[in-house]
Amino acid sequence: MGIATINPATGETLKTFDPLTDAEIETKLAVAKRAFEQYRQTPLRQRSAWMNEAARILQENKEQFGKLMTQEMGKPLKAAHAETEKCALVCRYYAEHAAEFLADVPASTDASQSFVRYQPMGPILAVMPWNFPFWQVFRFAAPALMAGNVGLLKHASNVPQCAVKIEEIFRQAGFPEGAFQTLLVGADKVAAIVADDRVMAATLTGSEGAGISLASTAGKHLKKTVLELGGSDPFIVLESADLEAAVSTAVAARMLNNGQSCIAAKRFIVVDAIADSFAQRLVEKFQALKIGDPMHPDTDLGPLATPGMLKDLDDLVQECIARGSKVLTGGKPLTDRPGNYYPPTILTDFPPGTPAESEEFFGPVALLFRVANIDEAIARANNIPYGLGASAWTNVEEERDRLINELEAGAVFINGMVKSDPRLPFGGIKRSGYGRELGIQGIHEFVNIKTVWVK
Ligand code: NDP
Repeated sequence: MGIATINPATGETLKTFDPLTDAEIETKLAVAKRAFEQYRQTPLRQRSAWMNEAARILQENKEQFGKLMTQEMGKPLKAAHAETEKCALVCRYYAEHAAEFLADVPASTDASQSFVRYQPMGPILAVMPWNFPFWQVFRFAAPALMAGNVGLLKHASNVPQCAVKIEEIFRQAGFPEGAFQTLLVGADKVAAIVADDRVMAATLTGSEGAGISLASTAGKHLKKTVLELGGSDPFIVLESADLEAAVSTAVAARMLNNGQSCIAAKRFIVVDAIADSFAQRLVEKFQALKIGDPMHPDTDLGPLATPGMLKDLDDLVQECIARGSKVLTGGKPLTDRPGNYYPPTILTDFPPGTPAESEEFFGPVALLFRVANIDEAIARANNIPYGLGASAWTNVEEERDRLINELEAGAVFINGMVKSDPRLPFGGIKRSGYGRELGIQGIHEFVNIKTVWVK
């Protein structure tokens, strides 16, 4: 597949792009290097002003940017508007807090003066996915640019117009030429870019395979990486939970972004005592969702981003069914219309060895597991190669403490759905990746933490 906008709701190719030539990539890397030498000298106050301006542009144009996202990857328009607003929020957050996060940290030692100083590293490559085509980029770019780095974006090949627009936003906000550049290239160019001496570090959000590939190249060239990969997040419901709140949140947590979110709840682990009631309510709510044109304001569930995503998801579902799993609702693609539509689906009763135990279902499919008690719930939740987020529902304090301590995940949310928030670090463990975005931790990933000691 080339670099193109293909409307997932219709299958129509709307715009194609020629990838950059090697000479054009070379020029952009040279620009990035030159820009960094100047940009790193800009006062923080100036960077904050530009970042606040980027926030203003996002806020003012949320209709236009939202439409672009929906057209390229199919998320419901209302979600695309919310995504644009969240990007404005992360820009404002780092504009306001960068000075505090990057301030010298004094330490008391044998020196007359010793402290830690945070300094920028240089051009940082961001390899980003299509699922949150603005948010994933801004949550990298806001801290990276505030820290004085310059950004190079290799966006997913199916969201090129979003990629181009984001560079425009930073330029329009006043950031100097080269502070943030989009490279319209395919995945085959990433290794050479990472290897280039001018690129100091890289971050990738996407699949495990892409993460391994990037990290291998970066490792060979001794460059730091941050990886935010897939997950199969558990959503645990224990007997004391507020069932109605849990079910309503379960729907949002599974269906957000047409089910294509790394931190979507994917495995619903419910104790026997309430499992029937939970399942019945979840089926009702899934069946009530409005599926259709993502541009329509009432649509809850739009198409999957590409025909390939639809096929991958359906293959996993069919394998579960073939091995004896039960379908409570949905279970096959909607073929009565063009576009990549998959209905809200619930699978349950998994014999050992189905993909439900090991794979990420990247679409509107909920996997429902019944367990006897909290011990089984925690064991089931942790029995997966991933560890991104976990949501757990209980009103018993000792249960809550056990869930917080024992769940293997980068984040645990009690009585709420897992979500990213600029004020809190975000990232995973196990095969979900490493490093953190957002919060104070996020801005410290791509800086030289310089120790200063003065006699
Ligand atoms: P990919 O990981 O293939 O794509 C994400 C980004 O990585 C894109 O920019 C892509 O470029 C790039 N990329 C792909 N392969 C390589 C490589 N070998 N080296 C360097 N960069 C690479 O995700 P897909 O879109 O194919 O989705 C597949 C699966 O990934 C999903 O089913 C889901 O499990 C997971 N995923 C997770 C996301 C998350 O938020 N954690 C987001 C998206 C997907 P290009 O588009 O040009 O191929």
